[in-house]
Amino acid sequence: MFLKRLALLGPLLAISSAEGIAAAYKSDLDLCGRVGQSCAPGCCDSRTCGTDDTCQVPVVAVSSLDSPSSADPYQVYWGDLHGHTANSDGKGDLDHYFTYSRDTARLDFAVVSDHDYGILGQWELPRATWTLTNDKVDEYTVNGRFIAIAGYEWTSNPIFWTSTKPIFSGPAGHYNHKNVYFPGRVDYIFGAMDSASYAPDLLAEAVRGVGGLIHNNHLDPGQWPDEFDYTPASASVIVNSEILPDTMRWEARQYTARSEQTLREFLRTGGRTGFVSSSDTHEGKPAARTAVLATALTRTAIFEALRHRRNYAVSHAPIVLDVRIDGHFMGEEIAIIGVPRIAVEVHGTDAIEEVIIVRDGVVIHSVHPEARNVKFEYADTAFGGRSYYYVRVIQQDMDEYGNRSRAWSSPIWVTRPQ
Ligand SMILES: [Zn+2]
Ligand SMILES: [Zn+2]
Repeated sequence: MFLKRLALLGPLLAISSAEGIAAAYKSDLDLCGRVGQSCAPGCCDSRTCGTDDTCQVPVVAVSSLDSPSSADPYQVYWGDLHGHTANSDGKGDLDHYFTYSRDTARLDFAVVSDHDYGILGQWELPRATWTLTNDKVDEYTVNGRFIAIAGYEWTSNPIFWTSTKPIFSGPAGHYNHKNVYFPGRVDYIFGAMDSASYAPDLLAEAVRGVGGLIHNNHLDPGQWPDEFDYTPASASVIVNSEILPDTMRWEARQYTARSEQTLREFLRTGGRTGFVSSSDTHEGKPAARTAVLATALTRTAIFEALRHRRNYAVSHAPIVLDVRIDGHFMGEEIAIIGVPRIAVEVHGTDAIEEVIIVRDGVVIHSVHPEARNVKFEYADTAFGGRSYYYVRVIQQDMDEYGNRSRAWSSPIWVTRPQ
C-alpha cells in the first residue's frame, strides 16, 4: 500500500543532541547575503546574490536574529510523532521502540502510535495493551533527557459504512487516519469504530476533554476527501498535519500524493494547521522528523509547543529552521500595523539549494544560497492585510531514493487591524 510504503521512506539519520544543535546555532554562522547590505562584490556570496542586486531586495536590517540562541525562550527538540510496534502492524515491542528512539536515533521525544483497530480484525488495541503503553511511557520518560508519549493511530475506514463491516449507516466517511496523543494517563482510547468518536469532530471533543492533541496523517485527498471534514473549533485540538513533498520517489517509482498542495488548499479556505512529519515506522526505527520549539524537555512543554504549532517538519536531514515575523514565532496568529518582516535563518547539514517564502499558496521570494547556513529578512510590501506565510527549505543531499531533504515551517497568520 502506498501509504505504508511512504512510511518506510528514508534511512534513519543519527542526529545531534539538543545541545549539539544549540551549539550549531552559536557557531559556524555563514552570513553570506547579510541583510541590509547590497550585493556588491565582497559583501555577499555571489552565488547567493546573483549579479543584479535583487536577491535580498527588499530587505530590512536584522535585529532579533543576531544572537539566535542566547536570548531565545525556546530550545529546538527533535522527535517522531508517529510509529508502530508489534502491538499493531509494526515490528518490535514498546521497550525496543523507546530504547531505539532514545539511544540510537537520539531523539528528545517519541510518540508511539499503534493502530486502534486492524480493519479486518488482524489486531486491536485492547485496554491491557493501552495500560501497558501508559506504564512504558512513564517508565522511559526522564525530564531533560527523553520524553516518551502514549498515543494511537485513529484508523478510520469507509469499509465501516459497508456491508463488509457494517458499523455505521449513512454516507461513508473518508476521514483518513489521525494520530492522537496525550500528556498524561488516559483511561482508554477513543476509537474510529466507536460511535462516540467515529468522526473528526467527535474525536476532537473527546480528546479535548483529556488534554490530548491530534494531527492529520499522510494526506492524500484523492483517497481521503474528508480528511479535513471538521469545524474550525476542532482545529484547536487537531492542531497539525503531516507534510511531505507533493511528489516523491520510493524505490524505483515516483508517487504523487499532493501533500503540500493539499495543505495550501486547506489554508486557503481559512483552515488552521501547523506542519509536522513522521517516520510512520513499521520497522521499529523512529527518526527525527518533527522539531518543536519548547521551553524545556518535559511532556508539558512539548505539548505546549505542539498545541501552539510552534513546530516544523523535515523529510530527511535534521535541518534547523528559524522563521519569525516581527519577532513572532511559527504557528502564531498576529496582528501588525506595518509591513510584515519575515526573518529566516537556516542551518543545514549540507548545502541549501533553495529557500522559499510562501504567502497564501504563492511563492513570493526565493534564494538559492548553495551554502549550509543562510540568514535573511524579507519585507513583504505587497501584504494585503490578511495572509498566511510559511518557509520551505530544500537541501542538496538526498535520501536513498533520490528525494532531496526538505524542511517546512509551520505557517504564521498575519492580519493588519483596520
Ligand atoms: Zn496510517
Ligand atoms: Zn501509521
